[in-house]
Amino acid sequence: MSDDAQTPNANFKPRIFSGIQPSGGLTLGNYLGALKRFAQKQDEGIETIYCLVDLHAITVWQDPEALRRNTREAAAAFIASGVDPKRSILFNQSQVSAHAELAWLLNCVARLGWMNRMTQFKDKAGKNAEKASLGLYAYPALMAADILLYHATMVPVGEDQKQHVELTRDIAAKFNHDFKTEFFPAPEPLIEGAATRVMSLRDGTKKMSKSDPSDASRINLTDDAGTIAKKIRKAVTDPEPLPSELDGLKDRPEARNLVNIYAALADMTPAQVLGEFGGEGFGKFKPALAELAVAKLAPISDEMTRLMNDPAEIDRILGDGANRADEIAQPILARTLEIMGMIRSR
Ligand code: ATP
Ligand code: MG
Repeated sequence: MSDDAQTPNANFKPRIFSGIQPSGGLTLGNYLGALKRFAQKQDEGIETIYCLVDLHAITVWQDPEALRRNTREAAAAFIASGVDPKRSILFNQSQVSAHAELAWLLNCVARLGWMNRMTQFKDKAGKNAEKASLGLYAYPALMAADILLYHATMVPVGEDQKQHVELTRDIAAKFNHDFKTEFFPAPEPLIEGAATRVMSLRDGTKKMSKSDPSDASRINLTDDAGTIAKKIRKAVTDPEPLPSELDGLKDRPEARNLVNIYAALADMTPAQVLGEFGGEGFGKFKPALAELAVAKLAPISDEMTRLMNDPAEIDRILGDGANRADEIAQPILARTLEIMGMIRSR
């Protein structure tokens, strides 16, 4: 679908945009698939814009008080994971109204047939799609707006978001084609590392998700050491020992998941992990994994707690980020409206 998105990105300055929904407490999947890499990208010296996408969160019901708290907590998680709000732009989406405005324009570019192919809508709407919000259906067009509003060229995401970034490329290409312009770049999804899709601890075929009804399915960034160890100990696995070669994990999704998590946390490859643990049973591997997870996550969760004690400071950081985001977004929105033929006379 996206091979026709051939906009030359050479004309655009490298810029990273990504977001996380403040739709609940963040998980190990969010950390390994997103936050950890967000901090690495910032440290590579690329301009980085990170967003708490509260307008996406409300595509399913959010209790207002919980949404406010989750937004601040997610901001704290970014900072605790190494995103520096001075070097990166960190803000919540609804403070920059251009996201919603560009989303409307792109709603009129995106095709129903494209939206109907989005697997996340099918997963989240489930059997009762008639009762899903219109926003949940339109979500990918808002995500395209988030990215294109900054002319972002790269989007670090987990595997589950690849289809939405590809849709963004299609929307950009159609806009450029329909209006005979090269205004929007074709952003690339950056999906790297051993943990691009961390799976549920209860079911190795389902992605770990903050909105899964079972808390035992995920490790939350705010879980204490005892809870993390217990969840890993109880993680569903098979009775076989770990293989020495990657091939041996092929039909063992639960085992593969735990090996991938270990690798990502330890900055090793899965093959190196098997080099160390091949032949061992889970009785040995799970405690080692729990110890590693606690060692890596405890400093993050401690720092989050510290930051959450000063919500006014978090709000100030988000406001500052929103001002800086707005400065980039406004001219791009204005130019988009102009290209589409809207009169701008004030
Ligand atoms: P929700 O269930 O509300 O959709 P989520 O856990 O999927 O929550 P998102 O806010 O949708 O989280 O995604 C934020 C980022 O985290 C995205 O880049 C997404 O690809 C990444 N991500 C989410 N879950 C995982 C996972 N299990 N493994 C790796 N990356 C993930
Ligand atoms: Mg998600």
